[in-house]
Amino acid sequence: MDLSLTADEEHFRKRLEDWLAVVEIPEGLRDYGSTPTADDIDAGRAWQQLLVEAGWAALSWPAPHGVGATPSEQALFAEALARRGLPRQLSFVSMELAGPIIIAFGSPSQQAAHLEPIRRGAALWCQLFSEPGAGSDLAGLSTRADATGSGSWRVTGQKVWTSGAHYSHHGLLLARTDRAAGRHRGITCFALPMDRPGVTVRPIQQMDGESKFNEVFLDEVEVGEADVLGEVGGGWQVALSVLGRERRMLGAVAIGLGAGLTEIREVAEERGSADGVFRARWADLWGRVQMLRWTWFRLLSDDRGSATDPRMSVLKLTSSQLQQQVAALATDVLGPAFVTGRDGEAWRHRFLASHGATIAGGTSEIQRSILGERVLHLPR
Ligand SMILES: Cc1cc2nc3c(=O)[nH]c(=O)nc-3n(C[C@H](O)[C@H](O)[C@H](O)COP(=O)(O)OP(=O)(O)OC[C@H]3O[C@@H](n4cnc5c(N)ncnc54)[C@H](O)[C@@H]3O)c2cc1C
Repeated sequence: MDLSLTADEEHFRKRLEDWLAVVEIPEGLRDYGSTPTADDIDAGRAWQQLLVEAGWAALSWPAPHGVGATPSEQALFAEALARRGLPRQLSFVSMELAGPIIIAFGSPSQQAAHLEPIRRGAALWCQLFSEPGAGSDLAGLSTRADATGSGSWRVTGQKVWTSGAHYSHHGLLLARTDRAAGRHRGITCFALPMDRPGVTVRPIQQMDGESKFNEVFLDEVEVGEADVLGEVGGGWQVALSVLGRERRMLGAVAIGLGAGLTEIREVAEERGSADGVFRARWADLWGRVQMLRWTWFRLLSDDRGSATDPRMSVLKLTSSQLQQQVAALATDVLGPAFVTGRDGEAWRHRFLASHGATIAGGTSEIQRSILGERVLHLPR
C-alpha cells in the first residue's frame, strides 16, 4: 500500500490486518462481487455480522450513522479484502446505495427504521430504476404512481435487470407521479416494501449460470407518503445521487483487479508461460489499473461529484473495460483449463460476468458521450 497514512490511518491498517489474521471466515463465503446470489445470503450475512461486531461495517457512511472512515481507510479496507478474495459487505446496493441515500434524503423516521437493519445485514435493498423502455434514457421511465386522492398512490409498471430483487426487503423505486410535469420533474422516489400486494418478481438467468437480476412487475401497488424518499416530484435528484454514487463505487473494482493481476502473473510463472508478450500485456494492464486506482482514491476524497461529473464517467468506462481485459488475459494464461478445469472456475465466472460491466450503471457509449460533450466540448 503506497498511500501516505496518518497515525490514525496506520492504526486502522494494523487493527484491520490483525483482525483479518484471526477472524473465522463463515463457511461457504466466496467473493461474489457486488451482488450475492440467493445461495450466498447466509454466508454473506454471517460475514456482515462479523464486520459489524468488529466495527468494519458502514465505513463510508457519515457518523453518527456509520464509521465515517477517511478515503484512505476505505481504500485500505477495500484492498485488504480484495487481496483475500472476500466481499466488502453483504450487498453493494444495500450498503453503498440505499444506506447513503436514506442518510441524504430520508426523514428522521425513515432513517430510524431502515439504517440499522441495513447495517446489520438484516434488510436487503434493490434498485428499481431500469425499465424495458428506459435504461440509458432513465428519465423516459413510464412506471406510473397515480394519486388515489387520499394521500397515497397506486404504482403500475415494469422494472427490469433489478439486481437482488428476488431476496430484497425494500426497493428504491422511481415512478412518475406527475405525467404533465417535465420528464425530470414528475418523478418521485419511493422506499417500496417488496412484500406489498401487487409486486411480482421473476428471476432472469445470466450466461454465467447464476441468477442475480430480475424482472419486477408492479400492479396497482399501494404506496403512501411515509414511503416517499425526498420530495414528491424530487425523484430525479435522488436518482442522480444514486447514479453518481454507483459510478464512483464501481471504481472500487479496480482494487480487486490489482489482486487478480498478481494471481494471473503467479499462474503464468508457474506454467512457464510468462514470456515477453505476456509481460508486455501484463505491464500495460497493471499500469492502467494503478491509474484507475488513484483516480478512485481522488474521487473518494471529493464527495461533490454527481452522476454527470465527467470524472465518474472516466472511472466507470475504464474500470469496466479493464475488467474485461484482465479476465481475457486470464483465459489466455489458463488455456483449456479455463473451459474444463476446476482451476478456471473463478476466472470463467469473472470473464462471463465482466461483459455486463460495460452496461450496468450506464453503458460505455453513454460515458463516452458525457466525456465527448462535457470534457472535449464536441457537438452533440
Ligand atoms: C449486471 C447488471 C446489473 C444491473 N442491475 C440493475 C439494477 O439493480 N437496477 C436497475 O435499475 N438496473 C440495473 N441494470 C440495468 C442497467 O442500468 C441498464 O442495462 C443500462 O442502464 C442500459 O440500459 P438498457 O439495458 O435499457 O440499454 P439501452 O439504453 O436500450 O441501450 C441499448 C444500446 O444502445 C446504446 N445507446 C442507448 N442510448 C444511447 C445514446 N443516447 N447514445 C449512444 N448509444 C446509446 C447503449 O449504449 C446500448 O449499447 C443492470 C444491468 C446489468 C448489466
